[in-house]
Amino acid sequence: MTSSSSAAQTPQWAVCTHRLTKIYQTKRSQSLALDHIDLNIPCGSIFGLLGPNGAGKSTLINILAGLVFKTSGTVQVWGMDIDRQARNARAAIGVVPQELNIDPYFTPLELLNMQAGMYGLPRDEERSLRTLDLVGLADKVTAYARHLSGGMRRRLMVAKAMIHDPPILVLDEPTAGVDVDLRRQLWANVKALNNRGVTILLTTHYLEEAQELCDHIAIIDRGRLVACEEKNLLLQRISQKELTLWVDRPVTAPVACGSLVAQRAGEKCLSVRYNPQNNDFGAIIEAIKKEGYGILDVSTDETDLEDIFLELTGHKDTDHKDKSDKLKKTD
Ligand code: ADP
Ligand code: MG
Repeated sequence: MTSSSSAAQTPQWAVCTHRLTKIYQTKRSQSLALDHIDLNIPCGSIFGLLGPNGAGKSTLINILAGLVFKTSGTVQVWGMDIDRQARNARAAIGVVPQELNIDPYFTPLELLNMQAGMYGLPRDEERSLRTLDLVGLADKVTAYARHLSGGMRRRLMVAKAMIHDPPILVLDEPTAGVDVDLRRQLWANVKALNNRGVTILLTTHYLEEAQELCDHIAIIDRGRLVACEEKNLLLQRISQKELTLWVDRPVTAPVACGSLVAQRAGEKCLSVRYNPQNNDFGAIIEAIKKEGYGILDVSTDETDLEDIFLELTGHKDTDHKDKSDKLKKTD
């Protein structure tokens, strides 16, 4: 199967939103779920939409998929306006929802044939078989869905989303509540689809997932876009390292290292945060030696997305720690 994203048709952006706003009206209250979001998603990227629960991630992708009405702003999907070219815009996107919704009494082949019918595609069993092959389910075409493992069901969901060969695949929290092996398997599937030219948009509240998988990252928090950048640039922009030094005598006071200060981090331990682009590692070491400390050992801790997330949003993502512990167990 080839993606319909041939070069001639490739728009400037896979998805483009301008001042996208969503207010949910309930009987008693209003809730601002998206607040004037300007977002450009490059074609061919694996784009991570990151944010804590309730940030507005699902709202955003459901608007792209035509499942939720926006309040204001404009949205283009594969160059098509979701108001003026609603049908075509919807056809450019395949959505894998967070919840598994697979009818257990059908086989993968039957389910894909039905899904194709829902998109108004002519009956073509070959297409269904090709799509199942794409997600590694070629040997399960006639198994009952209820007999598939959790991982196979997830892949079947991806196949359903890809049956009409959309250039954009959207996955809403693809690995929430999923074990480590399955998470890795799904990451591999997503990368393989991306290698075939499919633009991937995924939401996640696992920072580690975004760090591992995505090349572009947007962070939303309480409906507002707080960052949107290439992952590497984002990591560099706020790149800080934490340097820990174990020394040969008790630390009595902080040590000035140029514009930085190494703080006491234990009886014979100092720590200092520095930015490798702006601060000279050697100068820090020299300053500490000059204070009369012999350095016994050093370690550095790279900044990861969690630090950036904390800096930008002011709150920590607790699930991240949870998951990294789980990942470590199997490493
Ligand atoms: P996320 O996917 O990032 O967890 P959501 O987009 O689901 O966030 O929700 C964003 C905000 O909008 C939350 O405050 C949520 O309570 C609210 N919200 C979501 N769906 C509805 C709805 N159908 N009616 C009212 N409020 C909603
Ligand atoms: Mg959600």
